[in-house]
Amino acid sequence: MKKITELTHDLLLETNGSIAIDFTCGNGFDTYFLANNYQQVYAFDIQKIAIDTAKNKCSEFNNISFILDSHANVNKYVNNFDAGIFNCGYLPHGDTNITTTSSIVIDALNNCLPNLNSKGRIIIVLYPGFEQGAKEAIEIEQYVNNLPSKTYDVFKIQITNRNHVPYIIGIDKH
Ligand code: SAM
Repeated sequence: MKKITELTHDLLLETNGSIAIDFTCGNGFDTYFLANNYQQVYAFDIQKIAIDTAKNKCSEFNNISFILDSHANVNKYVNNFDAGIFNCGYLPHGDTNITTTSSIVIDALNNCLPNLNSKGRIIIVLYPGFEQGAKEAIEIEQYVNNLPSKTYDVFKIQITNRNHVPYIIGIDKH
């Protein structure tokens, strides 16, 4: 099977839109991918060091708005969009105490899902391999599993014969 990052990018490419959101830009790998494939990208992070690193990594692009703010405030900055990614957890090589939290990710989803365009997709990568990540994964799964099937399809891609490995949740809007 492909690596999770490749899989998430393949899944995002199945959407045909022009506006994408990186809800957790971190070191900018996903932002770079989005900037290469969408006309306009919004990249959020609460850590200045992450935004600075991502800006540096993506310096060849002029279609990215970097936003030093929580993804819960997404509607202040973005209206309709076609694709989004939450790569949860903590900044690789950064402060492991600063992680995404289920309640804030769920706030962000509640706020932005009405603005996800029809045929749009949000990918969430969950990391149950550490305590906070395991709790976050359970709570986010509970939330997405209750999204109305009239409007959304929710899917999960997970290796099932290994414990605590990262996995993917996808939300497709009809
Ligand atoms: N996508 C990144 C990449 O390609 O390098 C990796 C993201 S990293 C696993 C998770 C990031 O989420 C961290 O940089 C962290 O600062 C950020 N984060 C945590 N809570 C956040 C929030 N409420 N809003 C936006 N970003 C947040």
